Amino acid sequence: MENTCKAAVFTGKEKIELQNIKKPKPKSNEVLVKLKTCALCTWEQRVYQGINKVDFPFIGGHEQAGIIVEIGSDIDKTLWDAGDNVVVGLLTSCEECEKCRIGEEGNCENFSYESFVGGLDIRGMGGLSQYLAVPISKIFKIEGDLSYQEAALTEPLSCVVHSIEIADIQLGETVIVIGAGIMRAFHAVLARNKGARVIISEPNQSRIDLMKTLGFEEFIKPDFEDAIDQSLELTDGKGADVVLSTVGISKLAEEAVQMSSLYGRVVLYSSYHPDTPISISPNRIHKRMTKLMGSANSNTRDFITAMKLLNERVIGVKPFIYGTYELDEIEEAIQKAIDPNNYRVIVQMT
Ligand SMILES: [Zn+2]
Ligand SMILES: [Zn+2]
Repeated sequence: MENTCKAAVFTGKEKIELQNIKKPKPKSNEVLVKLKTCALCTWEQRVYQGINKVDFPFIGGHEQAGIIVEIGSDIDKTLWDAGDNVVVGLLTSCEECEKCRIGEEGNCENFSYESFVGGLDIRGMGGLSQYLAVPISKIFKIEGDLSYQEAALTEPLSCVVHSIEIADIQLGETVIVIGAGIMRAFHAVLARNKGARVIISEPNQSRIDLMKTLGFEEFIKPDFEDAIDQSLELTDGKGADVVLSTVGISKLAEEAVQMSSLYGRVVLYSSYHPDTPISISPNRIHKRMTKLMGSANSNTRDFITAMKLLNERVIGVKPFIYGTYELDEIEEAIQKAIDPNNYRVIVQMT
């Protein structure tokens, strides 16, 4: 039917189903995007598992790319038109609060995962719907031969761009990245692009092998050796200038501080489940003048940077795509995404 479209809707814990929903209509300042891909983030996996609590029904998905199929009457056709391939940014920021107005959309005061977005009449982030109505402030143009699969990874990359900017990596510095899942791998790749020596701490051999194929040579294997001792050994006893802790395990946050050098910067990137408190020596922070920082979400500025990195092929994300599933295979796609051995799973809407 013309006025309906398909969406994968979370209807309860471990329940997701394909439904016919009302097809969104763009307002005069919006475009209608036919989504082609949506990558499944850890957040959606936690909704499915009942760890992140939401009211059902709920449409998940926030890592999406597609094609403009209709434009509102107020939109300048020389800038955006039907046929343009685009990434759709996070729709959950309001554009009106003070944080949004100063470019800190990731910290929007009205942020909620459970708003109505994209012209949909079911709450959620909207990415697992076939269509979304989107203001142009939330779209980013895909250029060249970048595929919809690759473009779907703009949002996760933008979050890592945010984290790397916070770390303020300088040429020639030593950076330790704890973990080599997809977000950790992005941290390693971007840190290297910033001109740093990168050491990766990772127990999983297949992830280490993948990072080797990308040219990384220095690894700490925390299952076989003491990660802190090894980090000191690899840095002449000094510790790393920057430690990027990208695994949501509290003990590793503690270790990250111990791996850092004098004037070291430590970024805690992941969210922690459970959020077990950590123990850090205040004197260590004081005497070594450590900067301990957190990084969460991303802003439009980070999206624009991530889009450029992908469009201009500065970094490649293909090795981090596990596989692509059709929208009606959503159940299987989620199961594959939850398996910690797998990189990003992409849902495709045809
Ligand atoms: Zn995400
Ligand atoms: Zn806002």
